[in-house]
Amino acid sequence: MKIYKVGGAVRDRLLGKPVTDIDWVVVGATAEQMLAEGYRPVGSDFPVFLHPKTGEEYALARTERKNGHGYGGFIFHASPDVTLEDDLIRRDLTINAMAEDGNGHLTDPYHGQQDLEARLLRHVSPAFAEDPLRVLRVARFAARYAGLGFSIAPDTLELMRQLSTSGELQALTPERCWKEISRALMEDHPQVFIEVLRNCDALEVLLPEVNALFGVPQPPAHHPEIDSGVHTLSVLEKAALHRQPLTVRWACLLHDLGKGLTPESEWPRHIAHEHKGLRLIKAVNERYKAPRDCQELALLVGEYHTHGHRAFELKASTLLELLQRFDVYRRPQRFEEFVVACEMDAKGRLGLENRPYPQADYLRGAALAAQAVTVQPLIEQGFKGPELGEALKRERLKALQAYKDTAKR
Ligand code: ATP
Ligand code: MG
Repeated sequence: MKIYKVGGAVRDRLLGKPVTDIDWVVVGATAEQMLAEGYRPVGSDFPVFLHPKTGEEYALARTERKNGHGYGGFIFHASPDVTLEDDLIRRDLTINAMAEDGNGHLTDPYHGQQDLEARLLRHVSPAFAEDPLRVLRVARFAARYAGLGFSIAPDTLELMRQLSTSGELQALTPERCWKEISRALMEDHPQVFIEVLRNCDALEVLLPEVNALFGVPQPPAHHPEIDSGVHTLSVLEKAALHRQPLTVRWACLLHDLGKGLTPESEWPRHIAHEHKGLRLIKAVNERYKAPRDCQELALLVGEYHTHGHRAFELKASTLLELLQRFDVYRRPQRFEEFVVACEMDAKGRLGLENRPYPQADYLRGAALAAQAVTVQPLIEQGFKGPELGEALKRERLKALQAYKDTAKR
């Protein structure tokens, strides 16, 4: 048997990027041989094994053939007569279809190196169209390497468009989509992921609620960029620039969905878009079975981002309600994520990227003031049960009023 490094590890070494996980391909071996050497199988009908010591993935060289709709409809053929070239041709992009042996010798039948130099994401063969997930993968790689100047080859984009409009994309499971979406959002240029999906008509299928924001104007005084879709991309870009976690990036992507529902006659204003957008945010959350923390933050940011911007105008009682709604006493991190999401929203506006956002520290201060109220003295005063809850609320309100008064001075 011969063993080669493949895929991302080869690509990223040639790009001079750090290599995190290594995928290997094994040519000329059988599953029985792998098991005899101590490799552990991954699942039952997949020719992939884990190395007994490193835990890295070793896949038997294989060919695959499409048979029916979706991902379930693949027939794999792994046997010792499958060559390295056979295995590489079924891969998605030429830059992902290179292999390297133990001596550092490169096998590159589909000219991945040339495309790396040309900064091109190009499909390996027409079989690309057999797995619609590749639409998301290519968009994700575009988001990752945008900073290096990569773009998508026109033929590849055309194939992606065909996959998007043929109904194939709908066949993907929520789990596979979410894995790509969440990874793409964590790349350096997540807005490029959305742009690419839009360019190949996949956004309309995967996230029609986000797609609907493009072409919807906002008031130029607050939004010099005017377009709601452009604004959303810019907010996402800021979230990545400021190294925000997935929860915040997800919330940024979905915060303004309500603007896509505003009747044209009301443009460019979007009265109550925060509220109207909630059912759309919920639908997207559920479509991809997003993790709970992502779902929650997206809904809260959707509903309350304008509160964040108007923080200085909020009455002490409204501040208190906001803090209670976030359960800031038990979930301080979630409130902090709300605050930064609001800040990203404020910075994702053309020409206003560097405008200070004093609301953030003001909201943090309000949270601290309310959190500083302790329950023990109230218990000592004899409060119990619901009355204790009421007393605690009164004290927090007083603390917030005092905070407002000092913050003003
Ligand atoms: P990353 O740095 O994100 O891990 P990667 O290129 O290593 O990037 P993996 O998902 O680890 O991506 O897959 C390893 C390799 O397997 C890819 O480089 C590609 O050659 C191939 N591959 C993975 N998924 C697909 C797919 N859906 N279609 C075609 N080839 C794929
Ligand atoms: Mg990998």
